[in-house]
Amino acid sequence: MDANRSKKWRRLVASVAALAAIVALAGLAGVSAQAVRPSKAQAGAPQADDEFARLVREWTTRPEFLSPLVDHLPKVAGVPSPKDILGYHIGQPGKLTYYGGMLKYYRALAAASPRVRVITIGTSDEGRDCVVVFVGSEDSIANLERYRGYLGQLADPRPLTDAQALDVVSKARPIYHLIGGLHSGETGPPEMLMELAYRIAVEDSPLIRQIRDNVIVSITPSAEPDGRDRYVDWYYAYKTEETGEDVSFGGPPYWGKYILHDNNRDFNFSQLTTRAVLDWYLKWHPPIVHELHESVPFMYTFSGQAPQNPTLDPILYGELPWFSNFEMAQMIKYGMPGVWTHAFVDMWYPGYMGFLASNHNGMLRMYETFGNGGANTMKRKIGGGEGGMGGGGGQTTREWYRPLPPYADVEWSLRNNTNYMETGVLSALQLTAAFPQVVLENFYRKSRNSIESGKKDAPFGYVIPAGERDQTRVAWVVNILRMQGIEVGQATSGVTLKEGTFPSGSFIIKRDQPYGRLAKILLEKQTFPDPNLRTYDDTGWTIGLMTHVDVREIADKAILDVPVQPVAQMKPAGAVGGPGGNVVAIPHYGSANMMTLRYRLKGLKVSAAEQAFKAGDVDCPPGSFLVDVGGSPDALARVRAAVVPLGLTGALMPAAPGVPMHDVDLPRVAMFSTWGSTQDVGWVRYAFDVFEIDYDLIFKEQVKAGNLRAKYDVILMPSQGRSGKGLVFDIAPVGKPLAYKRSDRFKSLGMYGESDDVTGGMGLMGVVEIQKFIEDGGVLITLGGASFFPAEFGLARRVDAGRPSAQFYAPGPIVEAEITQPAHPIFYGYSRKALPVRYANGPLLSIQGPEAERDRQTLMRFRGTDAAVLSGLMKGAAETRNRPAIAEIQAGKGRIVMFATNPCFRYENLGEFNMLFNAVLHFNDVAK
Ligand SMILES: [Zn+2]
Repeated sequence: MDANRSKKWRRLVASVAALAAIVALAGLAGVSAQAVRPSKAQAGAPQADDEFARLVREWTTRPEFLSPLVDHLPKVAGVPSPKDILGYHIGQPGKLTYYGGMLKYYRALAAASPRVRVITIGTSDEGRDCVVVFVGSEDSIANLERYRGYLGQLADPRPLTDAQALDVVSKARPIYHLIGGLHSGETGPPEMLMELAYRIAVEDSPLIRQIRDNVIVSITPSAEPDGRDRYVDWYYAYKTEETGEDVSFGGPPYWGKYILHDNNRDFNFSQLTTRAVLDWYLKWHPPIVHELHESVPFMYTFSGQAPQNPTLDPILYGELPWFSNFEMAQMIKYGMPGVWTHAFVDMWYPGYMGFLASNHNGMLRMYETFGNGGANTMKRKIGGGEGGMGGGGGQTTREWYRPLPPYADVEWSLRNNTNYMETGVLSALQLTAAFPQVVLENFYRKSRNSIESGKKDAPFGYVIPAGERDQTRVAWVVNILRMQGIEVGQATSGVTLKEGTFPSGSFIIKRDQPYGRLAKILLEKQTFPDPNLRTYDDTGWTIGLMTHVDVREIADKAILDVPVQPVAQMKPAGAVGGPGGNVVAIPHYGSANMMTLRYRLKGLKVSAAEQAFKAGDVDCPPGSFLVDVGGSPDALARVRAAVVPLGLTGALMPAAPGVPMHDVDLPRVAMFSTWGSTQDVGWVRYAFDVFEIDYDLIFKEQVKAGNLRAKYDVILMPSQGRSGKGLVFDIAPVGKPLAYKRSDRFKSLGMYGESDDVTGGMGLMGVVEIQKFIEDGGVLITLGGASFFPAEFGLARRVDAGRPSAQFYAPGPIVEAEITQPAHPIFYGYSRKALPVRYANGPLLSIQGPEAERDRQTLMRFRGTDAAVLSGLMKGAAETRNRPAIAEIQAGKGRIVMFATNPCFRYENLGEFNMLFNAVLHFNDVAK
C-alpha cells in the first residue's frame, strides 16, 4: 500500500488513536497527530514527543511499516518514558536492553504512575527476579486483589449459580497477559513491551483510554531473564556488525542455564522460570495469555489451526480466529503488508507455555514477528517455495489467509518489528476492551463447561491404583497433576467400578472439576485425528506411559461419587524395616531415585543383586541394592537417612542372599556437549543435577586434549547434531574466533563451559581421542541423534545408522519396545518385557554380522507395528520393525551403548530414565 493511502487511513483512525483531543483542539484532523503541538500544555497532560516521532520514522524502513497506533508517543511530566530511563527510544538500531535495565524501567514507571504495579513471582537460576508488570486504570491497579478475586470465581464457578456468575462477570475485568523474551534470540518483544506499558499508562487517546478502563494488561517482560542477558552480551560481543543474513555469528551456546528454545516445551514446568509463570497464572487466572515470538515475516498471528485437540472447549476454537482475523484486518487497513494467520502453528501439542491458558479454560494467543536476532537493520530475503506450516518457504505468496503478503526483498529493522508487534497487541487489546464481558463470559463458560462435561462425557475419571511398589513414580504423576491445579483425591476405602476393584488409598482424579479437561488431555492416550495432517511438535505425551505408572481410564460414572480425601502433594513414605540384621536390602522397583541413593551412599560399599531374592517377605528383583552395615549403628543410620527421604524402602536381613552380586562402583562420568547444540544436553544435565549424579561437562576442547581414559570411565553424548558429521564438525568457522568467555564487560558469557572459539567442532582429531578412550576400556553412551556418530565414524564398525523414508512421519509418539536381553543391568528395575518408550527419531540401527552376535548386541528393539503405537502418531511403523532401540557393541577393551531412543527427553519420560542411569551406574559390570 502506498504512502498516500496509508495517510488516508491514518486520518480515519486519528480520532481513535492519535491524541485525538489535541488534534480536535488544533482543528487539524487529517494531519498526523504527532506533528501537532497543543496550544497550551497543561500540567500532567500529555504532549507529543516530537523527537520520538521523527526518529521512529527514520528507523522504520518504509512508511507502510508504521501504523497510526504507534507513530507517536506522549510525554507526561513526572512519568518516565523508556528513553528517560534507558537513554534511547525503543527500536533504536544497535540498542538492546539488558534485563536489569528493563526492571529498572518498569520499577521507575510503577513508582511514578498509579496505573502501574510490579510484582515479583520468582527467581531465575542465576538469581534474577522474575516479575509481572500490571498496567491499567488507577481503579484497576488500586483494586488488583478484588479483580483477581473475580477471575478466581470465574475460574472455579462451582460455588456459584449461573446468575451469580454472570453478576461476577459484570463486575470483573479481563487480565490480558503478554509474555516476551521466552526465546532469547527473539530480541524484539522485551523492548516493545516497555513502550507498550508506558503508552497504556499515559496516552490519552480514546482507544488507549478504553483499553486502560476495560482491561488489565499484565506483562512478563522477559520469561528467560538469564538468557536475555546472555544473548545481549553475545549481541554486543559479536553481532553489532552484522549487515545481512550472509554474515551471522549465531547466538550464544546457552540462553538460560539448561534448555534454550525448549523452554517453550517444558511440559512439566521443570524450570524455575516456567514454573514461576504457571504458579502465577493459577493465582491470577488471566483469561488470555499471549506469547510474543519472532521468526516468520512480517507478522503471523496464531488462529489455532488443525490438528486441534478436541477435548478443549469448542468456544476456544471460535475465539482464536476471532482475534487473529481482527488483528489482520486492522493492520491491513493501516496499510501494513505481510500480516497473516492460520497456516503455521496448530492446536495439538499442549506443552507450549501459552497453553497454560487454554489448558485452564483461558485463551492462548501467539505472534511471530520478523526479527533480525539483534538490533541491526538488515537486508532480508524471504524464501519462495511452497506455502504451509513450519515457517519455510512460500511466505510471499498470496493465500486466503495471507491476503496482503510480505515482500520478497526487504530492509528490516528492529523498529519495524516493534511497530508490527505493538500495533497487533494494541488491536488485540482494542478487541478485548470492546468486548470485555464477552471475553469474561467465555472464560466462565469454558470453566463451567469443563465441570459439566466431566458429568456428561466419559471418561469420568482416572484411577492410579494403590499398591504400586514404586511410589516415587506415582508421586511424580500426582504432583504434576497438582501443580497444574488438578484436584486429586485418595479413596478412603476400597472402590468398585466397572473397570475393577481398587484398594483404599488409590488416587482418584474426577473429571467434574474446572481442570477436568486438562486431566483428560494429560492422562488419555492421544489419538491423532488425521494421519495426513502435520503438527508442529509431539503427537503423544500420555503421562502414565511416559512414567510407566498404571493409570486407568474410567468410563463408569460412579467414580464421581467415590469418597476421597483431597491430596495437596504426595510425598512417598520411605522406610527401613524387616526382621533385623547387618545387611540392608533396597529393592529396585523402578524408582529413578535408586540412582540418587547410590550417590548419597558414596563411600559405602553397595552391591547389586544380579538375580531376584527375598529379604524376609520382601521381593527384591534383580538390581536391588545390598549394603552391609556390619553391625555399625552409624552406618545403618546413614543408610536409613538416605533411603527414607527418597521414598524408597529397605529391609534388614541377617546376611547377604546367596545370589550373584557385583559392586556398584561410582563411575567418573563426562557428559559431552557440542557448542552448537546444547539443548538436549541441557535436559540431561538438568536430570543429572536433580538426581544428584556427578559428571564433568566436556566440550571439544577437553576431547581434543586427549588422555580421556585416564580421566573418565563413561562418556555420555546426549542427543545433539543431526548426524555424526554434525556432532563432529559442529559450528562452521566464521573467519574469526568466537570466544565464549566471561569478562568484566560480558558477565553472562563463559557459564556452563567456556571456549576460546566455539566453532569448528572436535574434528577428526577428536574422533581419534574418543576411539582411543573406547579401545582403552571406556564406555561411550550415545542417545538419540548422537547415535549416528559411532556408526557413521566407524567406531561401531558393524552398526549402520539409517534414516526412514520420506513417507515416514513420527512426531514424538509413544511406542512399545521389547526387551531382548532382560538380564542386562540396563533393565534393572523393569519388570515387564515390553515397555512404552518415546520414539525419538533417532537412527534406524542395523547390525551386521552373525545372527547370534547381532542378537546379543540388541538389548531392546522396536516392535514396529501399528498396534505397538501406544499414543500419538507413527506413520510407517513397519520401517522401525525389529530395529534395535538399544544396541551394545564391544570395541577394543571398551563398549558403546547406543540408544536409538532418548531415555531422558524434556524431563518427561521418567519411565525411561533408569535405562540411562543403569547404563552409567553399571558401567563396569557387563560381562565381556
Ligand atoms: Zn520463539
